[in-house]
Formats: sequence, structure tokens, C-alpha cells
Amino acid sequence: MAKKTVKDVELKGRKVLVRVDFNVPMDKETGEITDDNRIVQALPTIRYIIDQGGKAILFSHLGKIKKKEDKEKNSLSPVAMRLSHLLEKDVRFVSVTRGPVLEKAIDELKDGGVLLFENTRFEDLDGKKESKNDPELGKYWASLGDIFVNDAFGTAHRNHASNVGIASNIECVSGFLMEKEIKFIGGAVDNPTHPYIAILGGAKVSDKIAVIENLLKKADKVLVGGGMMFTFLKAKGLNIGKSLCEDDRIEFAKSLLETAGDKLVLPIDAVVAKSFSNDAEFRQTSVDDIKADEMGLDIGPKTVELFSNALQGAKTVVWNGPMGVFEMENFAKGTIGVCEAIANLDATTIIGGGDSAAAAIQLGYADRFTHISTGGGASLTYLEGKALPGIASIANQ
Ligand code: ADP
Ligand code: MG
Repeated sequence: MAKKTVKDVELKGRKVLVRVDFNVPMDKETGEITDDNRIVQALPTIRYIIDQGGKAILFSHLGKIKKKEDKEKNSLSPVAMRLSHLLEKDVRFVSVTRGPVLEKAIDELKDGGVLLFENTRFEDLDGKKESKNDPELGKYWASLGDIFVNDAFGTAHRNHASNVGIASNIECVSGFLMEKEIKFIGGAVDNPTHPYIAILGGAKVSDKIAVIENLLKKADKVLVGGGMMFTFLKAKGLNIGKSLCEDDRIEFAKSLLETAGDKLVLPIDAVVAKSFSNDAEFRQTSVDDIKADEMGLDIGPKTVELFSNALQGAKTVVWNGPMGVFEMENFAKGTIGVCEAIANLDATTIIGGGDSAAAAIQLGYADRFTHISTGGGASLTYLEGKALPGIASIANQ
């Protein structure tokens, strides 16, 4: 069902609570933000709210807070500065998550003003109030505003006070980033245009069992590469040498191979090496000729061709999980080849998965996909076909 968005509600003069995902990577030594993509992605919603004359009260988690010492390096203070720079506007930073100082700052906020308060997970020090969705905390935060905009897709698979908790107290609508993620990832899961092809890879079968099962139900073809391909190859009776394999998933792989038939497409060749290193000698081989002392670290060129042909004519493509150890140059060609093939299609092309998104960006393909999800865990949960609590708590239209 379509969700209400920030465009469907009156904002002028109102206190607008905005859950953003400012969980940005930071340099451990210097404390500097190393990638501000998540801040950039939140700007359209923030700009819209202030342009409409709303008072934007922003909050987010950052990292994990298990002990007092975690607070300093996980303060949102540097994020407030970066946001102010990007918005070209003052951002009032409040270094607490509740109490009179925060309440006064909110009362003083002018129409069109922006305030960011401290890391919501600071509340985790006292009984995990944020992460366990303590009802009192959600109610308190909700009392600080008139309307709630949830734009934190990266947290949508969590049932926390700063998303679900607030939404159970006041009306919750989606921001533009959340709307976009629902449109593309939700669309690919619930209502894809066919032919629909999924490409799965990454390290482990066990991480992705539910994703494979769900996509086999929805897609016309599922192409499997990455480390997980070897569990499937072993299930077919092939020797996979020292390749990544989960012996306790072989039965599962066998049953999928039986039920999926032609729908599940496996690699025909691989790039193998004697050790897990970019300096190791490597060779291309057919998948039925992997030696006992070799490990598969990428799909081979014939498989890139096989997958590219399988993709022809696709109208929806979902890609999750790199085809090989793309972090090492010698084992990145499979992932590059598949990126190139997807990028050249006339189709809706979507990347869901943290490392896959990183691969596409690192390899220079970011602009050539229709949508790259901003949420690793959230997009995986979505692809598993599960309801995301953060999305379920947004009002329907
Ligand atoms: P995502 O975050 O996109 O869901 P995963 O976390 O499942 O992806 O997997 C990404 C990791 O899988 C990468 O770090 C990559 O190096 C690793 N990987 C891919 N192919 C192999 C392989 N053949 N052997 C070992 N690791 C692999
Ligand atoms: Mg990952």
C-alpha cells in the first residue's frame, strides 16, 4: 500500500521531527567523516521541510553505544557541522537526547530553522531504551514535535524508539529517501516488471538463504556467483578445493537446485588461486577442474558472458552480493563484467546490499544503476520479503 509522504502534510510553523540516517563512517584516529553520502541523501527532505516553513528537528543514531567511553567518538557534533556546510545554513546542535536544554532549543527554533540533537543510542546506556524501543522514550520524543517524518531507510529493519516508538504516538510519514527506497526495492519485491532477473553473490549462503528463497519465487532467473557459488557447485558433486564452502548448507543447496531447475543459473568457470591474496598466482578454469589446493575467488570470463546473455531483455534486475573478491584487483573482473552488463540494459536496475553498493561505487558504476540502496541490512531484509517495522509504522495513504 502507498505510504503518506512529507508532501501530504502541512509543515508551515510546525515542529517536524525527522528521523534521518546519519550513521556515517568516521576515521577512528581523526574523527573526520570519511563518506558523507548518507548526509547528502537526506538533504532533499530537510530542504523541503525548511522551504515549506517547517522547523526541522533532526535525530539519528551513530555507531553502537555499549559503554560511557563510546559516547565521545560517536557524537553527532561533526555531523552537525558537515550538515550546516552542505545546507549552507546554521544547524543548532544540542548535545543531549532529552531534557530542558533540548526542549528550550526546540521552543526557540524559528520557522525554517534546523536543529540536530545527539545520537539516539546514547539512550542505550541506560537499559537499551532506544534499541529496545522503550515505550516511555518513544512517547517522550513524540511529545517534542507535531508530526514525524521517517527518512531513515537504513534503520527500517529495526524496531527502535526513534522510528517505531515515535510512530506509535504521532502520525508518521515518509521522507523522500524512504519513499525512493520503497519505490525501487519494494517495487522489485512486490510488483516487478518481467523479465525479472536477480543476481546473487557475496560471501556466504547462510547470510542469504531467505533472500535466495524469496527471489527464486519472484524472479524469472536467479544467477549465483561470489563465494556462495561453491556450496552449490559442491552440492552438484564437483570438487571445489579450498573455496569457501558451508558444508551444513549443502543439503539446502541441493534441494534448491532440484526445485529451481533452470531458473537457478550457476557459473561455468572461475578464477582460482592458491591463497587468499592479490599477490597469489591465479588461473582461469572450468568449474569441473578446480584442484584440491586451489580456491575460487571470482567467476570466470565465460560465466560473465553466460550471465550477460541471461540478462538480455530483462526489465527488472536486482543485484545483491559481489561476484568475487572485488577488493583485490585480480579478482574484480567478474564483478566489473556483471556491473557493465547490467549498466547497459534498458531496465530498472537496483543494487541492494552494502558491499555490492560499495563495489559499484568503487568500480565507477554508481551513476549507471537506477537505484543503489542506502541500507545494507534493511535492503537485505526487504529482499527476503519480510515486513520492515520502520516502514510498516508509516501511515498509509
Ligand atoms: P553484500 O554486503 O552486498 O550483501 P556480502 O556481505 O554478502 O555482500 O559479501 C561481500 C563479500 O563477499 C566481499 O567482501 C567479497 O570479497 C566476498 N566474496 C565474494 N566472492 C568471494 C569468494 N569467491 N570467496 C571469498 N569471498 C568472496
Ligand atoms: Mg556485506
